[in-house]
Amino acid sequence: MASILQVKNIETLYYDIIKALRGISLDIQEGTISVVLGANGAGKTTTLKTIMGLLEDQPDKGTIEFLGRRIDGMDAEDIVNLGIAMVPEGREVFPELTVMENLRMGAYTRKDRRGVQEDLDRVIRYFPILRERASQQAGYLSGGEQQMLAMGRALMTRPKLLMLDEPSLGLSPILVREIFEIIKTINREGTTILLVEQNAKMALSVAHFGYVLETGRIVLANTPQNLMEDEDVKEFYLGIKSEVSGKGYQRWRRKKRWR
Ligand code: ATP
Repeated sequence: MASILQVKNIETLYYDIIKALRGISLDIQEGTISVVLGANGAGKTTTLKTIMGLLEDQPDKGTIEFLGRRIDGMDAEDIVNLGIAMVPEGREVFPELTVMENLRMGAYTRKDRRGVQEDLDRVIRYFPILRERASQQAGYLSGGEQQMLAMGRALMTRPKLLMLDEPSLGLSPILVREIFEIIKTINREGTTILLVEQNAKMALSVAHFGYVLETGRIVLANTPQNLMEDEDVKEFYLGIKSEVSGKGYQRWRRKKRWR
């Protein structure tokens, strides 16, 4: 397997003083699903925004390579054209536009009409509800439908790497399962996925590799199986109380730092 995205020691500051990322490295393999777990404020969203070129003049340190090419410092639009798309936290669909207009916005720079139609068909195959809602204003969709629309819009750029920021946020357990099934299908059909999530159980159940982010640093990087056996991951991300004593105080201290 080859790397599709290599993030090396990136540091991102807000207002030159708030160190949101303190030297993060990720090596995302082509064709896989990778997940970054972390509590509120750990730096998950900042990681994705830094990769996507959405923060001005970022990163402050480190490098980002996509398919062997440096992308740190590039404009978001150029990064999209190279093949990365991001579904932001809270979906951010255009509420006044119809569902179909939102989907077409995803492809507005593309000239290959046939390709665009193929991708539209593909999106509708993943999310049939979007065809039913095609002429409705996106602002009136339910949270789950908006998540589907935001994913559909990102797919309309035909990304090689799809990044998703907390796709499960605010959705019912049934819808979360549905969204994750579709994420697996999108991946099986050839798109590499990088996911940031607080729903560790669901994310680890679909991922091939996982990272744990704590206050701007990667503290664990391992297979989902190994992460699920890690005492801290079990306790703080999966809600499983450990029977092993002795390490308790150390874990309690880390928990205080995480929350
Ligand atoms: P959440 O799940 O709550 O979005 P997160 O893991 O995605 O959390 P980030 O949103 O990346 O975390 O935030 C990382 C750190 O950077 C936090 O300390 C946060 O307060 C800070 N931060 C994020 N956005 C900004 C901003 N626009 N200006 C200043 N500080 C920010």
